[in-house]
Amino acid sequence: MPNCNTSTLPIVLFDMDGTLLDLSFDDFIWNQCLPERHAKVHQCSLQQSHETLSEFYQQHKHTLSWYSSDYWTAKVGVDVLKLQQEFQHKIQPRPGCFELLEQLQEQGYRCWLVTNADQPSLKLKLENVALRPYFEVIVSSQQLGFAKEDIGFWQALQQLHGFNPTQVILVDDTAQVLEGAKRFGIEQLITITQPSSLKPERDPSTLNYPAIANLIELLSFLAQFYVKDVDVKTA
Ligand SMILES: [Mg+2]
Repeated sequence: MPNCNTSTLPIVLFDMDGTLLDLSFDDFIWNQCLPERHAKVHQCSLQQSHETLSEFYQQHKHTLSWYSSDYWTAKVGVDVLKLQQEFQHKIQPRPGCFELLEQLQEQGYRCWLVTNADQPSLKLKLENVALRPYFEVIVSSQQLGFAKEDIGFWQALQQLHGFNPTQVILVDDTAQVLEGAKRFGIEQLITITQPSSLKPERDPSTLNYPAIANLIELLSFLAQFYVKDVDVKTA
């Protein structure tokens, strides 16, 4: 492994849910648990509950409200944070998560966690999966007042932490987020073929960005991107 001059390394920005963590937890909470609880609370059929919630989901997808536990708790009359706490044992990392983070740490990469999870959900996830030690910066879109799909998120992040968009790489499973980042000027964008282990793997040829399955595959992308800039020394 070559020794690289760490000042030329990009900052690696990671999404959390569906990228570092298995989205199966969120799928389970939002598509199974919440409809069941919602049906119970409002004494309607499970099908009615699915229909009501799916209408809400369509209206609010990719907005800051969509990611807010408080918003959903008020909107649907079920304590969504409590629901997540009840099933927190299901929060799991995606394949290669810790192997990759260990490697990046060893190689001197700076890593930032940039998530649309609201602050209480972020806290819960970090209590269950020990990601914190690997990250220099951890930011929730709730703190910045914009969802990551919005260019405003990236502008606010830059104001807060200062970075050059051409010297970062973003790994995120959501196309709309990658598009927002691209509009802001981030050029190096990577997506995930299988955000949720409960759903089939997506065909990379249908995705608009280079895609990885196991997170460890990111290392070869990093090597390609920065091959010209790194100062390779012989051991
Ligand atoms: Mg995600």
